[in-house]
Amino acid sequence: MSRRPFFTACPVCECHVRAPLIEFPELVYVRCGGCGLIYKSEQVERLGVGYEDEYFKYNRAGFLKRWAHRVRKCMRQLRDCLVVTPDAKVVVDVGCSAGYVLEAGRRLGLEPIGVDISQFAVGLCREKGFRAELGSLSSIPLADESVDIVTLKHTLEHVPDPLAGLKELFRILRPGGSVLIVVPDADKWKIALMPRVGRDLRPELRGWQHHVYFSSSTLRLALARCGFEVMHEDKAVFRRNANPIVEWPRFAMYWVTSKLGRLLRLRRELHVVSRKPMMG
Ligand SMILES: [Zn+2]
Repeated sequence: MSRRPFFTACPVCECHVRAPLIEFPELVYVRCGGCGLIYKSEQVERLGVGYEDEYFKYNRAGFLKRWAHRVRKCMRQLRDCLVVTPDAKVVVDVGCSAGYVLEAGRRLGLEPIGVDISQFAVGLCREKGFRAELGSLSSIPLADESVDIVTLKHTLEHVPDPLAGLKELFRILRPGGSVLIVVPDADKWKIALMPRVGRDLRPELRGWQHHVYFSSSTLRLALARCGFEVMHEDKAVFRRNANPIVEWPRFAMYWVTSKLGRLLRLRRELHVVSRKPMMG
């Protein structure tokens, strides 16, 4: 088995200059000389084939575990989007998996729609009574400007063209609509300082399914190139309409932990809320 080129240029800034980051027999990651994005430059051909459905069947028990905890986390994330888009009605979760965001949306009085490339995941969500559609990030079966909030959690690092995916989100969002993106943080110490130590890059763990690793700056660049305005990063989003006695300590705790996490490279995932501008 020999490796084939994967991304021949940076998928965010299109720069061809790059420095090697880590090499395995099955794949190679490089760092873009233009923007600093970590991306896959080579991979063996068969790696990752048959991923869509097998992934879910194999992980079914894992996906259903900790349901209540995950739904609560999704409710918190949707509330961060509602700060940006307070009058939202329709929320779409792309890469909806077992439907955590859909359940969270329903509890918050929103109309949730799930999209997934896996027929198995779509079936699982429909069993629970949700609207779910088969589709990919580059081709979402929804009309232009028909959606108020989109969530994209641990999906952007899996797709072959992340910028095309962000443009597709821009298309389905109405002006003023918001998107939450959650991806692994490329600046976490295991990737930035000791790439061989963590699970993220090794081919037999996450390497085969993760094609890019965004940092705060490269994700912001990718969003800006697709027309989005970044509104919030991390979980420190102040909710003006919440009870201030509860809200101030909550906000302060998230503010401190997110600053520290970033400084010490302990932050494991990026959590960025962006908006489609009001005026085209
Ligand atoms: Zn770049």
